[in-house]
Amino acid sequence: MKRLMVVALAWAGLAGAQMPIAVDVGHFLDKPGALSAHGITEFEYNHDLAAVIATRLQNEGLPVHLIGHRGDMADLKARSAEAAEAGARVLLSVHHDSVKEHHLQPWTWNGRALRHADGFAGFSLFVSRRNPLVAQSLACASAIGAELRRAGLPIATHHDLSSDGIRRPWADEANGVYYYDNLIVLRTAAMPALLLEAGVIVNRQEERELATPARRALTAEAVAKGLAACGMTNQSEAEGSELR
Ligand SMILES: [Zn+2]
Repeated sequence: MKRLMVVALAWAGLAGAQMPIAVDVGHFLDKPGALSAHGITEFEYNHDLAAVIATRLQNEGLPVHLIGHRGDMADLKARSAEAAEAGARVLLSVHHDSVKEHHLQPWTWNGRALRHADGFAGFSLFVSRRNPLVAQSLACASAIGAELRRAGLPIATHHDLSSDGIRRPWADEANGVYYYDNLIVLRTAAMPALLLEAGVIVNRQEERELATPARRALTAEAVAKGLAACGMTNQSEAEGSELR
């Protein structure tokens, strides 16, 4: 009896350590999200960054479950359901940012009519107060935001503008985290969940940076460190809640 219990506890510990981090690739091939200043879809940027984040986490020995990377995930609720099915400890949805229609300026690049908005830049994070684990979601978003700031990235403040009628309240202004309560992927997730807008792809200069391996590695590093700081990876025991 006693031995059985020890075995059961050991198994539970192992299972806990192996709960994957779900990395969700925002949008899908048929509706690929925003179009960048240079004519590349947001899905393509999300796909490439998610792969770098997944590799960075796996290099630390952390299991990762990628969602939507094949580009066929049309149902938003299926994303959080897949994360639950995989037993994910946290769900990170990877996106790249754009701006409202009226901020976009026409320009031509390589003979192609495109649009840009160079006055907007930076990262932002979103959590939903309708997620059952909002405090943990926010702790992770804040920790990742703190790491991105430390790496020198600006915060995208344009989601706070009320000119369009839709205003996202700050959850943690200092670290670039907004509340977006009805975001389906976040509110339907059974585990802590957050959405990252890694940068503004309609900003011509920031888009070029976002396309570089260096910027992707910097973002992946911030995600890994942030998830450790909020207790979502095994490192958390050693490094704890040290939010420098
Ligand atoms: Zn998006």
